[in-house]
Amino acid sequence: MASGALALAATDLARTFPDFLEVVVSDTRVARLYGRRFVQLLAARGVEAALLTFPAGERFKTRETKALLEDLLLKRGAGRDTVVVALGGGVTGDLAGFLAATWHRGVPLVAIPTSLLAMVDAALGGKTAVDLPGGKNLVGAFHQPVSLWADVRVLRTLPARTFRAGLAEAVKTATVLDAALFRGLEADVSRLVLRDERSIARIVARCLVLKGRVVVSDEREAGRRAVLNFGHTVAHAVEAATDYRVSHGEAVSIGVVAEARLAERVTGLPRAHAHRIEALLAAFGLPVRLPAGIDPKRLVRAMGRDKKTRAGVVRCALPEKIGRMPAGDDPTVPVDPTLDLLPLLVRN
Ligand code: NAD
Repeated sequence: MASGALALAATDLARTFPDFLEVVVSDTRVARLYGRRFVQLLAARGVEAALLTFPAGERFKTRETKALLEDLLLKRGAGRDTVVVALGGGVTGDLAGFLAATWHRGVPLVAIPTSLLAMVDAALGGKTAVDLPGGKNLVGAFHQPVSLWADVRVLRTLPARTFRAGLAEAVKTATVLDAALFRGLEADVSRLVLRDERSIARIVARCLVLKGRVVVSDEREAGRRAVLNFGHTVAHAVEAATDYRVSHGEAVSIGVVAEARLAERVTGLPRAHAHRIEALLAAFGLPVRLPAGIDPKRLVRAMGRDKKTRAGVVRCALPEKIGRMPAGDDPTVPVDPTLDLLPLLVRN
């Protein structure tokens, strides 16, 4: 394991929480790659930490996994003086974050994202949750991490498909908030695909700054924060309708393309911008169309369960152009999943 930000995180934890029980939560894959080593880094700084693991994958972002982790915390005698370290991808961040939000009504959370998707997006912003059989992220809490440490060198071990999925959230952030970042992504396609660490670090840092600003302005998503949901009304439905065979990042790619096409009609997104968005995602090797064999009725039902739905009306956050969302406190517009979105998804 590279020793940069991870060693710094261990030093900071030992200093900030000297008398706390440090609990590192990772899925088994990340635990094998980095978790045990991170616990050793803490031990070298005089901190005895527990490593709690769960099987990797969205399928395990559940109430049941959370309950098992709670039982393990109880066994360890964890009290209010516990700090939870989420070391892993977005699934670990959401699950460990929710655990930290509710353990003894809330204990400190430290985020150490290890997937690109978690670095550019999931680890920041305080949204934590688990999935229910009926939908994604249906039970959760807002709970901000006290610190976030991203070491891009851990991305060397990320499978290619998972790495690409992270780029989808970066494209979304750029489309919504920063035309210059979007141009930077276009210019850096080959460097990013080859995992050039300087390019990746630049993108991660910029995405964190951009998301941080939005979160600070509307922490609980009363309004403006919904801009970050561009592409996600479709994305969450695609994940649910494929039983999570399509990963979150891949679903975001499909959702961003479909919602950009809708934006052409609704917010006047120039057609050339919609084409650039699709071309960039495709250049990163991401899917831009629905895979075959998805039941359209299931998709429409899943869109109806989106958290932006109000009084039964589904809503989307749509850009006006690359780098600009509609002004005002409510950046979402009502849409009809069957009439507005389905034709864009099933058409080729
Ligand atoms: P994930 O956590 O399942 O990670 C994907 C895979 O990569 C897993 O198998 C994991 O073990 C592996 N992995 C992680 N880091 C690794 C590394 N350095 N080397 C090798 N393998 C590694 O999924 P994800 O794509 O990171 O995140 C998706 C999740 O994030 C979804 O549940 C989504 O809902 C959530 N999310 C949350 C927010 C938020 O604001 N809370 C935002 C976006 C996405």
